[in-house]
Amino acid sequence: MADMLAARPWTTRAECATEERAEHFFPENLGRHLASPSVLLALLTCERCEARQECGHEAMVPTIVTHIPGEPDPVPMLPTGVWGGSVEKERRAALEIAGDPDAAAALLETTFPQRLEERVAAFLAVGDRNADGRLRTKSWQRRRVEELLAEREDEVEVSA
Ligand code: SF4
Repeated sequence: MADMLAARPWTTRAECATEERAEHFFPENLGRHLASPSVLLALLTCERCEARQECGHEAMVPTIVTHIPGEPDPVPMLPTGVWGGSVEKERRAALEIAGDPDAAAALLETTFPQRLEERVAAFLAVGDRNADGRLRTKSWQRRRVEELLAEREDEVEVSA
């Protein structure tokens, strides 16, 4: 742990480090669904994070080299889950568009507010249940999303 903190001093300012439940930073669906409650919770946390830019830059560096079944050679991989206000799929798309990790991280930071608002709108539009009636949002997730959204509104009122 001490080694990790020394290598990544920005982690001492990580907002997610104080979240009670970290599983929403590594959602199973990796952000495939725009209305994912897990990804939204993570991004609402990233929105408040002072270390978002450093975290976003680190997330663009393929540091994990592993063996994939069927691949003859080691494959560099981007970190999975939510980092710096983006999911892996968004980071890969940004790399393709921007061409290099620094430009991709800058693009993701620029588009962060819009991407977050799209997820908030999708989450609120879909509601708590899937089309088949099954509960898709756990009660703690709904509660935490509502808390974070209420705190955002309070901040907007104070600064107005
Ligand atoms: S930007 Fe998000 S994932 Fe990165 S340290 Fe901050 S809260 Fe955690």
